[in-house]
Amino acid sequence: MEKDVFCKIVDGEIPCYKLFEDEDVLAFLDISQVTKGHALVIPKKHYDTFLSTPDKLMHKVMDVAQRIGQISIQFLGAKGVNILTNCYEAAGQTVKHFHVHVIPRYEGHDGFELEMKSNVEGLNLPVIAETIKNNL
Ligand code: AMP
Repeated sequence: MEKDVFCKIVDGEIPCYKLFEDEDVLAFLDISQVTKGHALVIPKKHYDTFLSTPDKLMHKVMDVAQRIGQISIQFLGAKGVNILTNCYEAAGQTVKHFHVHVIPRYEGHDGFELEMKSNVEGLNLPVIAETIKNNL
C-alpha cells in the first residue's frame, strides 16, 4: 500500500518544519497556513483517524496539541485557538493519517472561518440522546 504523506514525513522522505518529536508523536507546521502558526500533531505510527487511534496514544497527541495551543497564545500573539481533527472524507479529512490541527486565531479576519450554526430542524433529540447514551 502507498504510504500517506504523513508517514513519509515521519520516515524523513518529505521535509517539514518540525516543532516537536518523541518516540510516539510528531508535530510540524501545516504546509498551507490557514493562520500564522497553523500546526499539525500526529502519531508516528499510522492510524487512519482519531476514532481508530488507541486511547493512550491519542492522549499523547492531544497533550502536544494543547501545549502548542498554549504557546500560540503566549508567544505568537494569538487570542484564541481552534483544535480540530477531521475524521473521514465526509468530515473533510484529506490525509488518512490521524492528525490534530492547532489553528491559532487572531483578532479580526484572520483567514479562518468556522461557523457552527444550527441548520437542521425536526430532530428527535430524546431518541438521539438515548442512542448515544446507551452505547457509551
Ligand atoms: P485534513 O483536511 O484534515 O486531512 O488536513 C490535511 C492537512 O495536511 C492540510 O491542512 C494540508 O495543508 C496538510 N498537509 C498536506 N501535506 C502536507 C505536508 N507535506 N506538510 C505539511 N502539511 C501538509
